[in-house]
Amino acid sequence: MKTKKLVVLGGGESGVGAAILAKEKGMEVFLSDMGKIAPRYATMLDEAGVEWEDGQHSETKILDADEVVKSPGIPPTAPLMQKIASKNIPVISEIELAGRYTDAKMVCITGSNGKTTTTMLTYHILKDAGVNVGLAGNVGKSLALQVAHEQHDVYVVELSSFQLENMYNFKANIAVMMNITPDHLDRYDYEMQNYVNAKFRILQNLTSQDAFIFWQNDPIIEAQLRQIETQAQMYPFAETQEENTQAYIDAEDNMIINTSTTSLNMPRADLALNGLHNLYNSMAAGLSACLLDVKKDDIRRALSNFEGVEHRLEYVATVDGVRYINDSKATNVNSCWYALESMPQNTILILGGKDKGNDYSEIEALVEKKVKAIVCMGKDNTKLLDFFGGKVAHISDTHSIEDAVKECARLAQAGDTVLLSPCCASFDLFKSYEDRGEQFKTIVKSMSNNK
Ligand code: ADP
Repeated sequence: MKTKKLVVLGGGESGVGAAILAKEKGMEVFLSDMGKIAPRYATMLDEAGVEWEDGQHSETKILDADEVVKSPGIPPTAPLMQKIASKNIPVISEIELAGRYTDAKMVCITGSNGKTTTTMLTYHILKDAGVNVGLAGNVGKSLALQVAHEQHDVYVVELSSFQLENMYNFKANIAVMMNITPDHLDRYDYEMQNYVNAKFRILQNLTSQDAFIFWQNDPIIEAQLRQIETQAQMYPFAETQEENTQAYIDAEDNMIINTSTTSLNMPRADLALNGLHNLYNSMAAGLSACLLDVKKDDIRRALSNFEGVEHRLEYVATVDGVRYINDSKATNVNSCWYALESMPQNTILILGGKDKGNDYSEIEALVEKKVKAIVCMGKDNTKLLDFFGGKVAHISDTHSIEDAVKECARLAQAGDTVLLSPCCASFDLFKSYEDRGEQFKTIVKSMSNNK
């Protein structure tokens, strides 16, 4: 039989994992990255005997592939991807490739907001309960590398819409959809339905043995479920019980989780994560764990001792009586809505960055209620200044994190909260949202140390 030629585009965590797995499965593998491959990944590729290049794309070699694994970051509109499409070379994601080589149970989590928190929380519950579980997708090691080198019984996989785009036969056992709100519309021709369709690929291939966990009150999920057919068992969650709700808060403020085989309850006050959005995240993780037959006591314990995830409503310090909160991961308007929802009044909000086609009217009412000042922080703040000008008592225009924090400290009085929850991507001023959050924390902590 002819050896399969696999080309991997992108030499980051997922691409390198895919290349190593494919090599171990006997394929002829070539990895190509237009940028620079990090030394750590270059070493891994060399050790596995994978041929690779960086700083260029050798087109002749790439277009000779039988199949291509594409990094989720490369848009399908990139000229090279168009050439690959015109030659009808199948393009898959790293998760699709890895799924071909494992029978482990897959808990797959998607949504516009809450993916990482729910993924980490689900992983924490399973790990804490002694399940042989791997963490994969956008967080942790790539699924492909774990399939190649570790044998887990269950994987908790965070899936972005970009990853889902190139998934076809991969099957989740438990699919979780937190919510769908506009995000990344620049990548979807500004067509919301294209983004919804990509997200709903998580449901494809689910059988009557599999479960679909989702937020019952999401109008977009609800509308899409009316359009499509699925055999999956449905597990909607909501704050209050409605028809068919499987996880909710009862009249005594207990969180109730029901599956066909079990029923769990615990006081809402015992949940480690606060805020309405985190209640949803706890419900989704708790439902997944119940469906995997984790003992109820183990689930309750893990839901109450989870330590949270960095850059998500992370408390940094209190300086001069002002609380500073790092929510740098809020890269869209909806996540900022949930952050504000859980804030007290007299919040000073840092907004701005690379706008992805944002509609700020979603947070307008909450801003009016809770925000005493907005500090814009971006290369170009015109859109924010135009939208919020006149709607808050004070609005400032800054172009660096140092100036933004300084301005917040100047405006704040004891008892106020400063919230970095920018609604925007970070790439105008920072390397990443992590970089933005780190810099924010460093400056706030240095103010705190100088006191
Ligand atoms: P994702 O991985 O989908 O980006 P995260 O768990 O990293 O989600 O959370 C990103 C931001 O979204 C958080 O800072 C928080 O403000 C907000 N958020 C978290 N969970 C939810 C949720 N279930 N619904 C809406 N917003 C959420």
